Amino acid sequence: MRTPTVEWQVAGACNYDCTYCIQSARYRRGRPAADQVRGAIQTFAGLPGTWEIKCSGGEAFAHPLFLDLIVPELVARTPHRLSVLTNFSSSHRDLMRFAALTRGRLAVFSASLHLEFVTADDFAEKAAWFVSLLDPGVAFVVNQVVLPGREAEALRCRDALEARGVRWFPQLFKTGGGVADYPDEAALRAVIGDAPGPREANLAPSYQGRTCHAGVEYFTVDKDGEAWACRTAKRHGEGRLGNVFDGHLAFFAAAAPCPYTICPCTVPANRGMIAGIGPAA
Ligand code: SF4
Ligand code: SF4
Repeated sequence: MRTPTVEWQVAGACNYDCTYCIQSARYRRGRPAADQVRGAIQTFAGLPGTWEIKCSGGEAFAHPLFLDLIVPELVARTPHRLSVLTNFSSSHRDLMRFAALTRGRLAVFSASLHLEFVTADDFAEKAAWFVSLLDPGVAFVVNQVVLPGREAEALRCRDALEARGVRWFPQLFKTGGGVADYPDEAALRAVIGDAPGPREANLAPSYQGRTCHAGVEYFTVDKDGEAWACRTAKRHGEGRLGNVFDGHLAFFAAAAPCPYTICPCTVPANRGMIAGIGPAA
């Protein structure tokens, strides 16, 4: 089953500065103003049916209007479900506000663990506390970039989280349009398994030739409001659908075979957008 989904970069800026960030520090800045946020939400309100709006960044919670405008207006003015990708650095107070604001509407809460800024134990403790605030139907998952040569460290983090009942999801380190080299293949396999699917790990596979609904029932929106069929399409300067700040979107007429050799994000796969992959398989 497909879940129509938009990934919205609600803030380019981030309060962290991870050395392995895929977004360059030069690009990791800026955020939409209040009138632009309202324009985007009005556009999302006009989407047919019920979508999942996944807020990401930069850091979504670092937008000063995230809890005062973005989340409350998405809840009040659209019928859609909300998800968020965050570095989980917000205060306990702000996380409690978020949980209260999104009650009954939250689909997925993805928290990224960055060991350059937090310890695994502190993060795991905070995660377990936060999960206790959420409805049982909310999917809470911790993402972590597994750096080459640091596989054992990643396994220790996995164990700390799983000991507290928190789901852990490994991501490979992306560089440029590809994936970094992992010289110790056995160490990597110990982390991701032998044949992980898109729900087990983010390996940035190729789905070239498979029918994909990106641009029809899935799209991304960057911090400037520009809407693209998917991240890889944007990287190629293709698949621009319009701008959500002014409300002009032109979706593709139908799903089409993927023309690209890498699909770096698991969201399209896990929302059933790609034929034969994920929940529609
Ligand atoms: S938290 Fe995420 S967006 Fe922010 S610097 Fe780290 S990797 Fe980049
Ligand atoms: S399979 Fe991935 S890369 Fe290809 S069009 Fe779909 S979302 Fe984009």
